[in-house]
Amino acid sequence: MIAHHVLKPDTQFLNLVELLQWRAQHQPDQTAYTFLVDGETEAIHLTYAELDAQARALAMHLQSLADYGERALLLYPQGLDFITAFFACLYAGIVAVPAYPPRRNQTAVRLQSIVADAQAKIVLTTADILATMAPRFDEAADLAALNWVTSDRLPTAPAIEWQPPLIQPHTLAFLQYTSGSTGTPKGVMVNHRNILHNSECIKQSFELSAASVSVTWLPSFHDMGLIDGIIQPLYTGFLGVLMPPAAFMQKPIRWLQAIAHYGATHSGGPNLGYELCTQKITPEQQQTLDLSQWSSAYSGAEPVRRQTLEAFTAKFATCGFEPQSFYPCYGMAEATLMITGGTVNQTPVYCAVQADELAQNRIVETVDPENVRHLVGCGHSWGDTRLEIVDLATSKPCLSGQVGEIWLAGDSVAQGYWQRPEQTQATFHAALADTAAGPFLRTGDLGFLHGDELFITGRIKDLIILWGRNHYPQDIEATVSQSHPALRPECGAAFSVEIDGAERLVIVQEVERTYLRQLNLDEIVTAVRQAVSEQHDVSVHAVVLLKTASIPKTSSGKIQRYACRAGFLAGQLNVVGESRLSIPTPK
Ligand code: ATP
Ligand code: MG
Repeated sequence: MIAHHVLKPDTQFLNLVELLQWRAQHQPDQTAYTFLVDGETEAIHLTYAELDAQARALAMHLQSLADYGERALLLYPQGLDFITAFFACLYAGIVAVPAYPPRRNQTAVRLQSIVADAQAKIVLTTADILATMAPRFDEAADLAALNWVTSDRLPTAPAIEWQPPLIQPHTLAFLQYTSGSTGTPKGVMVNHRNILHNSECIKQSFELSAASVSVTWLPSFHDMGLIDGIIQPLYTGFLGVLMPPAAFMQKPIRWLQAIAHYGATHSGGPNLGYELCTQKITPEQQQTLDLSQWSSAYSGAEPVRRQTLEAFTAKFATCGFEPQSFYPCYGMAEATLMITGGTVNQTPVYCAVQADELAQNRIVETVDPENVRHLVGCGHSWGDTRLEIVDLATSKPCLSGQVGEIWLAGDSVAQGYWQRPEQTQATFHAALADTAAGPFLRTGDLGFLHGDELFITGRIKDLIILWGRNHYPQDIEATVSQSHPALRPECGAAFSVEIDGAERLVIVQEVERTYLRQLNLDEIVTAVRQAVSEQHDVSVHAVVLLKTASIPKTSSGKIQRYACRAGFLAGQLNVVGESRLSIPTPK
């Protein structure tokens, strides 16, 4: 019995199974989750008691099919079935592997590589998804060979006899496959302690309580949708409202309407989400919207842009949205989710630095509008999590005012990459060269500290190094997409390729649909070259224009620069026009 933990249940539990059982016992009829089926009014609900009962029943079934510690793939559309299946895995001592079904016109390659990597034998899914997958089985023997369990069609047998498996803080809970922005997906091993530790950090940093309400459109198979959208509401005991990501993408107003309708205090996503709202929501749609109770509008998962925060705040001020409602934060799957965040109710911290100094990894603040890069502070670490900014060349801590790799230690740091001892060693077991302190997680991200505030400058793998200067692709991409109206924002990639012994800059960029028919290649290319040369002082070797909506992106909407580069080199992009500088052949 764990009833004596009534006062502070969330900090007392050793694992998520105890936590859910506690809620089912003490708050059985409280709604745990609400799912907006169409993103609007059609809502279905799950109470703690219902979730517990369904998880028990499915767990018993799973225990009859798989051994303790085996992996089960979760292949669900956004919704309550996924949530039940996820907890059923935990209740059965089975490692959940959240994934998503390929779209109709997509190959199943990513899914197949996850199945093989995780060595999964079971798939939990719905009858509808199985029906869409079955036609692929002829060509995918590996998928056909799996044991497909349609959880929405199982008889709901009373599962009184369910016995909780042995779950310790270090027991693996799930594998989080990363989104693949920079390479093939790797399964991050997240245990129960990681989840509880990160949930506590999130609860404290966002000042969450049982009175909070969250709304999310983020997909549940990603770290942010799962940890913040599903686990955090259970952890702290508040209502979690979910909607399908597509419902938001089609009509961004649905997200804000749900926030207003449910009085959500806690809701967020990547910069792109705010950008979509700013661009697509009409003044009429805005009229009745009340966003005044939204106290943590978090922005993370990709670079947080000052311009986006300011435009969103200006547009939605009439709805009661205030600048201090924004909450920039930083995180990654390898740290369960959250790494840093600021203080609620404080306006975002901005820093304007000299661009040419930044190219040399140095931070010099400036007021010069010509040579500036605006950065948004992502707060500080929480709890006992330790951050270091580390010099890439020496593995020693950076001096202040210097950009280095962000290293991290603490109980939120996951256990490594599933079945990849070498990558685990390299990424999760770093030590400082001067004191040998460690182990640290190497985040692969670059940044600096300004006082206590962390600023992220970009990813090491994406950095473009030309003539000894660092260029951050996101800066060049923003310059490119703004250089001509035919170019689609957020749909370009900048990278370098080696040609004749030198690194050269390549731009791959989608064209807006309305410009496709009469494409003025010369005009666009000239605009791109001029803007990049003026603002970044580099010449563009190749400008490659792509068909609308064809650039490689991850399921979370991040540009896959490495895939763009590979596609460029292999000549496999959907090109509608291109221009390359001719390189004089050496004599
Ligand atoms: P993969 O590791 O497969 O390439 P991914 O890194 O995109 O995929 P995630 O764990 O979903 O997978 O994303 C974490 C990354 O997102 C971070 O390492 C960082 O590069 C980026 N990121 C997260 N928050 C921020 C932020 N506030 N500012 C800039 N970048 C951020
Ligand atoms: Mg990553």
